[in-house]
Amino acid sequence: MNYYDVSMRIWQGMPVYPGDPHFNLKWLNNTTDKFEYILSMFAIGSHCGTHVDSPKHFIKDGQPVNELGIDKLCGKAKLFYIENTEVIRPKDLYEFEIEKGDILIIKTDNSEYIHREKLIDHFTHLTREAAEYLRDKGIKAFGFDYITVDINDDFPVHKVFLGAGIPIVEGLDLYLVEPGEYFFVGLPLKIEGAEASPIRAVLIKE
Ligand SMILES: [Zn+2]
Repeated sequence: MNYYDVSMRIWQGMPVYPGDPHFNLKWLNNTTDKFEYILSMFAIGSHCGTHVDSPKHFIKDGQPVNELGIDKLCGKAKLFYIENTEVIRPKDLYEFEIEKGDILIIKTDNSEYIHREKLIDHFTHLTREAAEYLRDKGIKAFGFDYITVDINDDFPVHKVFLGAGIPIVEGLDLYLVEPGEYFFVGLPLKIEGAEASPIRAVLIKE
């Protein structure tokens, strides 16, 4: 089995979505010379690094992360690669075989810089129509290689997916993985009522 860690590194000073809180790790006991054991605490935005958005993020009475079925974010996944385009439209998706129940992951040019120290303004993103196309194909979760799937302030892609109960995994670092079929695991912390959660995302191939 090959295991690919497709999660962003979480570190003090890492870039976050504009306006989101910064990650902060604080040492309570920082040395075993002075204390019996090491102890820390951290503050982290729910959309920090690789994370999952659950329907509650945009949808009134939508599911929080603790109510997402394990199977939504754990299962057979297809990874497609779409390069040299900043806007993904339905026609860019027609060539791919997408089946009901797929966890669908799209790798783009974003993978060139998702692991770098700064975010960029001109990232590849989906149109509303592309999201509607994937929703109508019946995918059960959507994964993407940037910290957001929307470039538009109206968040059309979030609303289409989350409105259909499709969780969105954002911030996947797909730099080192090839397109193909995998088993995906990326589970949120079981935080009651949270609209999103950081995840550790893994692709597994036999
Ligand atoms: Zn998010």
